[in-house]
Amino acid sequence: MQTAVPRPTDRARDVNAVAEFWSRLSLAGEAPPVLDTMEAVLAALRLLPDVSGVAVAADPVLAAAMDATWDAGRDWCLAARVPTGQAAWSAPDGGWPAVRAAAAGRSAWSEAPLAGAATVVPVGEPPVLALVATGEAGADADAARRQALVPVAASAAAALSALTTLATLQAEVVRLAGENHALGRLARLQGRFVAMASHDFKAPLTAITAYTEVLLGQVGDEAFPHATEFLGVIRAEAGRLLRMVDRVLDFTRIEFGPQLMKLEPVPLADLVQEAVRALAPSAAARRLHVVVEAPAFLPRAEIDADLIRQVIVNLLGNAVKYTPEGGHIRIVLTEEGSSVAVSVLDDGPGIPSEDIRRIFREFYRADGAAAQAEGAGLGLSIARHIVHLHGGHIEARRLPAGGSEFRFLVPKEMGALAALPQVTGLQVSPEKASQVISVVLRTVAELTDSLAVVLLMGDGNGALVPVGSLGLRDEGRRLQPVILTEAWRRFLLDGRAQPDPGAIVGDLDLAHGQDLDERLYCPLVHEDEPVGLIVAGRHAGEAGYGEAERQQLEVLSRIVTTALRNFEGNEQRVLEALQVLLQTRRTGVPTSTPEALHLIGRLARALGMGSQEMRRLLYAATLHDAGMARVEDEIVLGAAPLSWDERDEVDRHVEQGCELVGPLLPDPAVRGLIRHHHERVDGSGHPDGLAGDRIPLGSRILAVVDAWFSLTKDRSFRAGLAPSAALAEIRAHAGTQFDTRVVQAFVELVEPVTGQADRTENRT
Ligand code: ADP
Repeated sequence: MQTAVPRPTDRARDVNAVAEFWSRLSLAGEAPPVLDTMEAVLAALRLLPDVSGVAVAADPVLAAAMDATWDAGRDWCLAARVPTGQAAWSAPDGGWPAVRAAAAGRSAWSEAPLAGAATVVPVGEPPVLALVATGEAGADADAARRQALVPVAASAAAALSALTTLATLQAEVVRLAGENHALGRLARLQGRFVAMASHDFKAPLTAITAYTEVLLGQVGDEAFPHATEFLGVIRAEAGRLLRMVDRVLDFTRIEFGPQLMKLEPVPLADLVQEAVRALAPSAAARRLHVVVEAPAFLPRAEIDADLIRQVIVNLLGNAVKYTPEGGHIRIVLTEEGSSVAVSVLDDGPGIPSEDIRRIFREFYRADGAAAQAEGAGLGLSIARHIVHLHGGHIEARRLPAGGSEFRFLVPKEMGALAALPQVTGLQVSPEKASQVISVVLRTVAELTDSLAVVLLMGDGNGALVPVGSLGLRDEGRRLQPVILTEAWRRFLLDGRAQPDPGAIVGDLDLAHGQDLDERLYCPLVHEDEPVGLIVAGRHAGEAGYGEAERQQLEVLSRIVTTALRNFEGNEQRVLEALQVLLQTRRTGVPTSTPEALHLIGRLARALGMGSQEMRRLLYAATLHDAGMARVEDEIVLGAAPLSWDERDEVDRHVEQGCELVGPLLPDPAVRGLIRHHHERVDGSGHPDGLAGDRIPLGSRILAVVDAWFSLTKDRSFRAGLAPSAALAEIRAHAGTQFDTRVVQAFVELVEPVTGQADRTENRT
């Protein structure tokens, strides 16, 4: 029997092929690991002897897991005729499973994109790539080709492992850079404390020292006429100093002590009344008119009463301090999504628009008349810290008629929670379980703008058990489990949200006595098994749920299913990711709204995107701006040019966002869509500088839709652009920032309605 001993010239060609492979490979670390390895492999394979065609194929799932630039929808096989054919990407019939079977020697690969008998050699275990050479049929020719492929495969395996290690190390570098950045911020903050101490404490201390010295020189002199006056000044200055020290102490305590919070259900109206009483003397002294407006029913808030009282006192205190004599102050309480909101409105001087972004910063004081009043510039910064510790939101705006509005939102009280672990089989502590239920309920309420949300989970015994509710008027009432009839199963397995699933919901008596008139029912499905149900509700008199809301709730329910599936062993990260998602409604660009998702869906369809890819895109769209929630909102909302450290913070948000929502991502392809939504088609974007078609189509769509919403949205400090102006702006950046084809399709979708919108705008 003849064995295929390589001839000396063949050996030389093997070495050439391996050398060619390494020389083609970029080990700079910037290159996409899988794509780059495939291209280098193909160049090397072209040098093999006695082959008519060569190819390299990748497992699309593993490739996406190893390579953030790999688009899930891309073709996975790169092939060329030898010696001079053009290399081309394709997705041959039989898919990756056929290649894998051939690489394992289980079958021949008859669907190779090239003519001739194919020899297939795996790279890695499990194989990430497969190297293919085609040529003459027959055992000897196959053995010779195999022998030639093996050394290249060994090199490719070594390169892939090195490149992915490099990618992991780079991720670590990014994480450390993040930590370094946070430490830098802390250092700057401490620096500012020192600066403030030396500046603001100096004036009263100088006064106290000077007056005390004069008094000391006059001890025993009965005739000194100013003793009482001087003592008065000393007492006032000491009091001022004490208040400032208190504020600085509050501030440091809050900055570093989130663990010290004591959360309980509190009627906010009571706290407001207490604050109004406390400030009544100063308000009366300035003849201010103070009114409190609250609806007949307002849910309690889940807060630390002492801390939130401080927020109200700071806001109301400012209104009293800065509103001229005889002015008006209104405090308005409302219920909104998952929150209770408090607004403090005054008809004072208002805040200059250019200051709105900075007003919540430490030690910030506006110029002009308002700056005359005493203060350390810490009150609003403290308020913001406290509200954020509660997972809430705070904002300021200049009222059109003059004066200011300061408004903060804190979470509503949760309804009774059932024991989740028994229901879902999750092995997590009851405390963590109730945390995840409550953040799920809040997120759904907040993003779908629903006042009430109920979560039911399958108990494994044919029933759906209510595990938590938010915003039901009668929180004490226990909801009944639902028996999973055949009709229920059919509805749940269908996976689609419905306003009224018909007679089957007779069991779930949500509306009972609490006018929850508009409802949307959305199944939670995992691997073709119904695992639960989300019900979102709005009260009588509110708008109903439309097609866009239905689609949004379906995306949210998939996110919730992923969160619950990944929860065990990952509790803190999943909770944080959901918390970040919860905040997106109030921060950054609103691309997770039903309206935005609907537009993204229509645009993707117009560009011919398939349903699987579309599901991924809508999922990514809901999560993609989450990193923004952590970029300080005054930076994100800024109209003015950013300073270097702020710019740095915004650029980093893409990677931060991927990191933060990581535990909610179902597959690497969704991660890729999020990671690349700040890339520009000219290659000058973030974070990988991808260009053209290398940017996943979904990311190119997100870039255009993000721009549209950020240009047209009104901000507290400026009005949004008219639709036609925003469209012109987007068009102007086609081919550099945005994909021309995406822009064209977007314009075709949006243009017919922009003229109309412009006209409506001009009338109002
Ligand atoms: P301060 O101790 O200076 O009041 P704050 O952080 O409470 O510090 O407020 C920061 C700045 O915001 C104030 O110096 C003032 O210029 C402005 N400001 C706050 N509240 C109001 C208001 N109701 N009307 C006008 N300006 C306000």
